[in-house]
Amino acid sequence: MRTLKTGIIGDIHGNLEALTAVLQILDAEHVDDVVCVGDVVGYGADPVECIGIVRERTSVVVAGNHDYGAVGKQALDYFNSAAREAVQWTAKQLSEEDRWWLSNLPLVHRTKDYELVHASFYRPEAFEYIFNPEEATPSFTFQKAKLAFFGHTHWPSTFLDGEPVRHSIQKVVPVDPPGKVLINVGSVGQPRDSDPTASFVILDLAKGRVNFKRTQYDIQAAAKKIIEAGLPASLAERLFHGY
Ligand code: ZN
Repeated sequence: MRTLKTGIIGDIHGNLEALTAVLQILDAEHVDDVVCVGDVVGYGADPVECIGIVRERTSVVVAGNHDYGAVGKQALDYFNSAAREAVQWTAKQLSEEDRWWLSNLPLVHRTKDYELVHASFYRPEAFEYIFNPEEATPSFTFQKAKLAFFGHTHWPSTFLDGEPVRHSIQKVVPVDPPGKVLINVGSVGQPRDSDPTASFVILDLAKGRVNFKRTQYDIQAAAKKIIEAGLPASLAERLFHGY
């Protein structure tokens, strides 16, 4: 049977409290499936717990730069110092099986309804950022389906292909627009759009739309664990501000 309602999450970054809150909403929404655009680990204090839950609850996960970074598949000089420290800390928490799972995540996933990538369909292994229409333009060349989802910037928004490519922050996006759309689902575990609530989307094919969603979660608990783990304090503080 065709999956009609899909929760699309990403940039969880080892934030168990945020992941749990988002999954509760997806359960209440009765989604048929959950998929993930990558960065399950990195920054947060619960990488192993998040891997366990994501493996159980999602049907597909594409690789993020932090996922590959934690297993040596992404060079450490790519990361800024706080991120690098978190990647190195995360690497030490992982079991052999966690490492195997992260190493084998694909860079791109394509279905007949939509496609997933962490950063960009143009050179996905380079993990480049798409913040504006100029940066989205090369990605559209390599996007085959009309509808695609990505993460990486932690900025929920939509890019619409065309001459020129356009950027939109509307909260509901129709799934069958005239051209291709590339939707950033925002970040579950470390939002950076000045809204500290966890971000994700629900693709509803029956209703023909993608809805952007936010939920509050226990930021205090997630931040406390980051401090207790000895990770950089800035990674805890930024959760309260959402940047
Ligand atoms: Zn990320």
